[in-house]
Amino acid sequence: VQFNSVIGPYKGGLRFHPSVNLSIIKFLGFEQIFKNALTGLPIGGGKGGSDFDPKGKSDNEIMRFCQSFMTELYRHIGQDVDVPAGDIGVGGREIGYLFGQYKRIRNAYEGGVLTGKAVGYGGSLARKEATGYGLTFYMREMLKANNITLEGKTAIISGSGNVAIYACEKAQQMGIKVLAMSDSSGCVFDENGINLDVIKDIKEVRRGRIKEYLNIVQSAKYMENTGNIPPIYSIKADIILPCATQNDITIESAKVLVENGTIAVGEGANMPCTNEAIQYFQEHNVLLAPGKAANAGGVATSALEMSQNSIRASWTFEEVDKKLENIMINIT
Ligand code: NDP
Repeated sequence: VQFNSVIGPYKGGLRFHPSVNLSIIKFLGFEQIFKNALTGLPIGGGKGGSDFDPKGKSDNEIMRFCQSFMTELYRHIGQDVDVPAGDIGVGGREIGYLFGQYKRIRNAYEGGVLTGKAVGYGGSLARKEATGYGLTFYMREMLKANNITLEGKTAIISGSGNVAIYACEKAQQMGIKVLAMSDSSGCVFDENGINLDVIKDIKEVRRGRIKEYLNIVQSAKYMENTGNIPPIYSIKADIILPCATQNDITIESAKVLVENGTIAVGEGANMPCTNEAIQYFQEHNVLLAPGKAANAGGVATSALEMSQNSIRASWTFEEVDKKLENIMINIT
């Protein structure tokens, strides 16, 4: 879906998930227009994807799907036309396969056609971390404006994908204790604080299920998803960072969170809170960081990746992280 290119090429993520349909891609693309404009960088709004289910597929199967997908997509994209990136089910591995096929078809190195590339062939340092880091910067700024500090606070983070993992990393660096994370099957609760190395190994290396956390940390608890309130939202914490998918926090979960004394909710995912949940939070003075602003760090850093591709330079991790932090401060 190519929505708007008034201030720059269409830009948004590609999603591979069985739930994908045109309606979802349209709402995501529409949101993307405003989010991208909020970054202050010259990028328009678009989104894409497929109902292909990558779960349980081998690397070879993923590669073949990405190549076929790009064989059709290539005629609609380009570094000045439409610049896709990753989203649910599309990470560095998939971007690599997509980029390779684009390069093969075009017979040219056009680095700026996709973002979220690996650092070895035109990617930006800190892009992988950017959405999660940006969310945490935004949360810090929002709380600061309300005279609340992050140190010593507790948090729960739904999801254990790209956004969730790096939101957790930055949150821990800022002194927050992350008590629980989840995937679509259930959540793990670790009252000593989530061991992120274990989560990274399960999700980024072995592509396993979050339940396997208990094989390493026996003292943690696992709660399976049943009923209409994901069990992660029954855990008491100061800060809630929904980083999985849309409509994750319904009014039922919102009521439990308010009862548990939640101070703030930061939308890492796109539209993770339903409208009724948002209204409930507002009526009960729970601070809310809306996804359109709070998760804009990913696309902002994608635009920084495009800048580096254009000037054929690569900035250090610290340089990109600092630029991201400033962008998030400006957005807040
Ligand atoms: P990933 O595919 O890396 O991770 C998604 C996570 O959410 C996984 O843990 C997945 O669990 C879980 N999940 C997916 N669907 C459901 C569901 N129906 N119920 C419960 N859990 C679910 O995706 P990202 O981390 O990249 O994206 C997460 C969210 O952030 C999305 O809303 C995306 O649009 C948004 N976003 C992402 C950006 C980025 O830079 N990546 C930028 C801005 C927003 P499982 O493995 O079991 O499926």
